[in-house]
Amino acid sequence: MLSSFLRASSTSIQRTTPFARRAFSTQFPALQRISGVETVKNYINGKFVESKTDKWIELRNPATQELISYVPETTPEELKEATESAKVAAREWKKTTVLARQKVMLDLQYLIRQNHDAIAENIVYEQGKTFADAKGDVFRGLQVVEQACALTNMLMGEKLTVAKDMETYMYREPLGVVAGICPFNFPAMIPLWMFPLAIAAGNSIIMKPSERDPGAMMMLAKLAAEAGVPDGVLNVVHGAVDCVNFICDEPEIKAISFVGSDRAGEHIYTRGNANGKRVQANLGAKNHAVLLPDANKQSALNAIAGAAFGAAGQRCMALSTLVCVGETKEWLPELAQRARELKVGFGMDPETDVGPVITVQSKERIERLIQSGKDEGANLILDGRGVVVKGYEKGNFVGPSLLTDVKTDMECYREEIFGPVLVCLNVDTLDDAIDLINKNRYGNGTAVFTNSGPSARKFEHEIDVGQVGINVPIPVPVPPFSFTGSRGSILGDMNFYGKSGLQFYTKPKTVTSLWKESDSEHTKASVSMPTHN
Ligand code: NAD
Repeated sequence: MLSSFLRASSTSIQRTTPFARRAFSTQFPALQRISGVETVKNYINGKFVESKTDKWIELRNPATQELISYVPETTPEELKEATESAKVAAREWKKTTVLARQKVMLDLQYLIRQNHDAIAENIVYEQGKTFADAKGDVFRGLQVVEQACALTNMLMGEKLTVAKDMETYMYREPLGVVAGICPFNFPAMIPLWMFPLAIAAGNSIIMKPSERDPGAMMMLAKLAAEAGVPDGVLNVVHGAVDCVNFICDEPEIKAISFVGSDRAGEHIYTRGNANGKRVQANLGAKNHAVLLPDANKQSALNAIAGAAFGAAGQRCMALSTLVCVGETKEWLPELAQRARELKVGFGMDPETDVGPVITVQSKERIERLIQSGKDEGANLILDGRGVVVKGYEKGNFVGPSLLTDVKTDMECYREEIFGPVLVCLNVDTLDDAIDLINKNRYGNGTAVFTNSGPSARKFEHEIDVGQVGINVPIPVPVPPFSFTGSRGSILGDMNFYGKSGLQFYTKPKTVTSLWKESDSEHTKASVSMPTHN
């Protein structure tokens, strides 16, 4: 019921009780209904408009299969219209001062804060994660908006006197129209990695949220309008491959931010680059935790269980792989016991630790990969398949699962599972663990659990992964830094948010100017004999 969250009133998005989602009313005109279910709108040139498409994607609550809404495959004409509105808006928006744009960002961060819980609740219904986790999703995105408020400092230029009366100065200009293409797993945080910085830097942007959970982005668009983002500066369109291909091919779009799977990312990176666009693409991951015998056992096992099974394992920084060094493999039954105690259920139930996975197909794929591990010789010491949640019997639930004695050639190790499954491998030494991780194609995140400073330092220096945690399970940097996944987890060389994020959405301009002081009309005529020195 996405559109029922979107009220035209100036009081932003209303929230009633956690379970009273249907109590929201809508004041949007001309709501087209298919089978009595509301449709998600395009947001073009400051208006929420019904798509004229005849192709609709069903959006279902992953805990119940209840049909929530239909997502349009935005038509080529509508995509053109969004681009045209972004192009026109970019011309004026570029001329505004960074101070004026900062003010809009300050208001946006305030409005998101005010509507934090309503956005999180919508995420639970569309994406499935727990309410607490959904609040974290919004919060980590909000931190990037806060960074966008500090743009005045970050956009400072540079200036150097290079000859007498001649100076060169550099400042960064917006690119014009840019686009963002998002995955399903962080419906608020990842759009917020993109559009606030792009807009604050003076661009206009076309956002394409995941077709599986666009609600948070629609709510954010409404808040952005309230905060003073002018019509056309932010547009939201929907769909899947056709919409993405339009974005890759449209000459007016100068840059694409993408987060999602390898398959889509490689396609977008190649096609976007071939069309001369700047592309930043964050891809899949296989994040390893290394457990050393000198680790604090209790806190390490808790951290690993939380990072492996939280968000049903659907985080790109989930710890999906555990490398047990030496005798720590003996700790695995205890880890399985902690995982067994996690409650699987509907995300709005405050007792729930693990919500459903996004789709029926995703559940089937995860279960198939668990079976493949078993078939290839791993031990399934905790099997989360077949979990049934009372009252939510149709939900896409998979309980925490643990495969031990996994080998690197097994499919469950080679593939990103993206579900609540921890695959555990055994090695003898820290060197072996580092070697194993460095041979994996991905480089998103990793963590070591140890009480040894020297071991931690060795790990930090020798590991070829972009985001390293030392006794920290999910080391996602806050926005003064950037999200620095590496190797197979990224295409392009400019990271999301932080200084690098701002550079992505801007291009440097250098100006060398000569204003001869001696040419000034106000200088006095010289009457002394010229000496020419
Ligand atoms: P996805 O690739 O299926 O979808 C992402 C976007 O790409 C969507 O908007 C979708 O419409 C579009 N898309 C999908 N297939 C496409 C195709 N063939 N051609 C063109 N466009 C296509 O990803 P997802 O399932 O929504 O998200 C999960 C994936 O995202 C995981 O692999 C996860 O690791 C990754 N992820 C990475 C990061 C990171 O920062 N590295 C963060 C979050 C998620």
